[in-house]
Amino acid sequence: MSAMNPIHPVLSYLDPARPEPWSSFLEQIDRVAPHLGGLSHWIETLKRPKRILVVDVPIVRDDGSVAHFEGYRVQHNLSRGPGKGGVRFHPDVSLSEVMALAGWMTIKNAALGLPFGGAKGGVRVAPRSLSRAELERVTRRYTSEIGIVIGPDKDIPAPDVGSDQQVMAWMMDTYSVNVGHTASGVVTGKPVALGGSLGRQEATGRGVYIAAREAGDRAGVPIQGARVAVQGFGNVGSVAARIFSEHGAVIVAVQDAEATLFNPAGIDVAAAMAHTASQGSLAGFAGAEPIADDEFWHVECDYLVPAALEGQLTARRAEGLRARIVVEGANGPTLPEADDILRRRGILVVPDVLANAGGVTVSYFEWVQDFSSFFWSEDEINARLESVMVKAFAAIWTLAEERSLPLRTAAFIIACQRVLAAREQRGLYP
Ligand code: GLU
Repeated sequence: MSAMNPIHPVLSYLDPARPEPWSSFLEQIDRVAPHLGGLSHWIETLKRPKRILVVDVPIVRDDGSVAHFEGYRVQHNLSRGPGKGGVRFHPDVSLSEVMALAGWMTIKNAALGLPFGGAKGGVRVAPRSLSRAELERVTRRYTSEIGIVIGPDKDIPAPDVGSDQQVMAWMMDTYSVNVGHTASGVVTGKPVALGGSLGRQEATGRGVYIAAREAGDRAGVPIQGARVAVQGFGNVGSVAARIFSEHGAVIVAVQDAEATLFNPAGIDVAAAMAHTASQGSLAGFAGAEPIADDEFWHVECDYLVPAALEGQLTARRAEGLRARIVVEGANGPTLPEADDILRRRGILVVPDVLANAGGVTVSYFEWVQDFSSFFWSEDEINARLESVMVKAFAAIWTLAEERSLPLRTAAFIIACQRVLAAREQRGLYP
């Protein structure tokens, strides 16, 4: 990409020097194809996103200058229902990344049995480099630009890395103003006052914990007393760490973009969360020792929870890992070659499409509540989340056992069967 012309990240999709998340997704699809019987006839469906929208997002900055950002919305597959998936605001967002994230949403939603297709959006922007007013302008302009493809029964965005409840509130308001009526079901992860769901904010971290517990029960690694290392201390990693420690686990290491911290006696998660809330990162937190970033991957632990970005668990890191179970809070944290190494080394991987599905599961509950304008209690939501996750986990575990497959392959088989059966039954138009 030329420094003279920085606004061509679409081309980064073609940059061979960058690790390509979409290539990882394609490889995962190739790995599942031989297990799909006659439905593999339709496999090409999953290797081509149904619809890709690339938009220019221009805003007037606070200093009066004009800035342009590139935005995307990818609808990977809509065979089983409207598109569903978050919106990422991050300086490294690329088309390849959004395509992969949309593909993983297709698999995740189908694996959990949620009546959605898969979609994802993103803006290539560092949200923390913007003022609040600039962030609002980026969000509103992006929402307007993708307004032609989103809607409560078309495609429903939600938070992801770099976006939050407030961003969802602006998205809901912008879409509603544009269509002329309040359409609360156009996004999920909204503030409760605007039709958001109780329990949504914690749901991804809670789901990570449930998936870990289910895996630990079967693999003989109890949560009580377990040593846990968490990469990423945002909405997923911090909540998962808190719930793990509430159940007697010891958080021995945490890492965010600015710091890696170690404390074999256990990190006080509430104190670390208070520190990040006031300081913006883990850097400077006194309740643990700073260690070198790469040391994170050598920390001896029972559960390792990558809850940051994709592509973190490389082959080299997989060789050195001293964990018993990897629970993927992030989307796509483990590269396919690292998956093979972990399998060979007997390290169990609970894949993203299962482990981090708690968020979109409660997003589904939110969408249903918005449609019916009837809202549930937090206990009811958490109980339903528990039952959806436990059921999906059991089905995936059983298939993996029966066929001696990794959990990821089993999850992909169940999901692809559902998506491709819908494809086949709907038939091709014309
Ligand atoms: N961004 C989250 C994910 O990757 C949530 C998506 C949603 O709730 O639609 O699963």
